[in-house]
Amino acid sequence: MSSQKYKGIYLDHAATTQMSDAVEAAMQPYMRENFGNASTVYRYGEEAKDAIERARGQIADSLFAKKSEIYFTSGGSESDNWAVKGIAGAQKKKGCHIITSRIEHHAILNSCQYLERLGYEVTYLDVDQNGMISTEELERAIRDDTTLITIMFGNNEVGTIEPVMEIGRIAREHGVLFHTDAVQAYAQIPISVRQYPVDMLSASAHKFHGPKGVGFLYVREGVAIPSFIHGGGQEQGKRAGTENVAGIVGMGKAAEQAMHGMRQRMRRETMLRNYLMEKVTHEIPDARINGHRTRRLPGNVSVSFAGIDGASLLILLDEDGICASGGSACNTGESRVSYVIEAMGVPEEYAAGTVRMTLGKDTTRQEIDLAVESLKRNVKLLRGA
Ligand SMILES: *Cc1c(COP(=O)(O)O)cnc(C)c1O
Repeated sequence: MSSQKYKGIYLDHAATTQMSDAVEAAMQPYMRENFGNASTVYRYGEEAKDAIERARGQIADSLFAKKSEIYFTSGGSESDNWAVKGIAGAQKKKGCHIITSRIEHHAILNSCQYLERLGYEVTYLDVDQNGMISTEELERAIRDDTTLITIMFGNNEVGTIEPVMEIGRIAREHGVLFHTDAVQAYAQIPISVRQYPVDMLSASAHKFHGPKGVGFLYVREGVAIPSFIHGGGQEQGKRAGTENVAGIVGMGKAAEQAMHGMRQRMRRETMLRNYLMEKVTHEIPDARINGHRTRRLPGNVSVSFAGIDGASLLILLDEDGICASGGSACNTGESRVSYVIEAMGVPEEYAAGTVRMTLGKDTTRQEIDLAVESLKRNVKLLRGA
């Protein structure tokens, strides 16, 4: 198998990642030879089932969870929808109040808005200039009818890592369930469900060198979450549908690989990230970093340049073979400024000139140097200097 490495400079690992050779190789047999349906009794079915259970073990091990606490889904969006709508529905008798933050992914925000249309009440916590929620504010927001707190682990746009440990403790004290969207954090930083008091956690394979269209929801033993996709008895009767065997196998392999040498990879990425942040702010005037300086995902750099339009900058970067993002991959243009950047109160002259660069395990110092050169030249161009 030949390794097809992307030829340009890929600085958009928060949007998606390239599948690794090992992941592709692990998936291959389940696309043709071992095509069996895992719900059948003959050998092909057994093989598919065994493969799914091996993957479940790999995911469970990565979180120090039990295999029975891992449910496979079609990705981060489904996991988020399931956790929010599932718990809201199941606990309707207890109450109809949910707490989240203003900077969640749309999979959470739009699920919450949907619930609001059904009569639920949602509190959207503000964040400070670093993108952090306040745990005091969170505690004050909890009411007798609060059933769920959903706050992300690490933010996809600005990289800020939320105080998950503290949020979980507060949720437990008040008997409220806590879900975290860990799509950006899982497989990038160590997460143990023995250590973190989270009840549910979402992740997605394509964010950590696995295939697209597969993810999982961790649900702590004893948390009663209803089925989201109704049908057959797959996934302990909680998520119907013939399993995406190859996808699940690929995700298991990707998780296993991610756990290998994670600390070393984190150190390296953090070092390169800091290098990029320093270089960009030193070499380009009127540039400011968004998000928390240290409580931040290893590979995330979000930077705003005063007086320019970020979307135009992205086009110029693309001409230099550099892939970067604006706020998020899914802003449709009714506003030039991302809601995350807005929620953090980034000054107006900077907000529209925001670019996100997210590094990965293969990013090199040379690529960062080239990216900064391009940024320098193109920001200057856009400023008409
Ligand atoms: C990518 C992402 C999602 C959505 O995951 P998909 O698998 O693409 O549906 C959800 N939350 C966050 C924070 C993400 O970065």
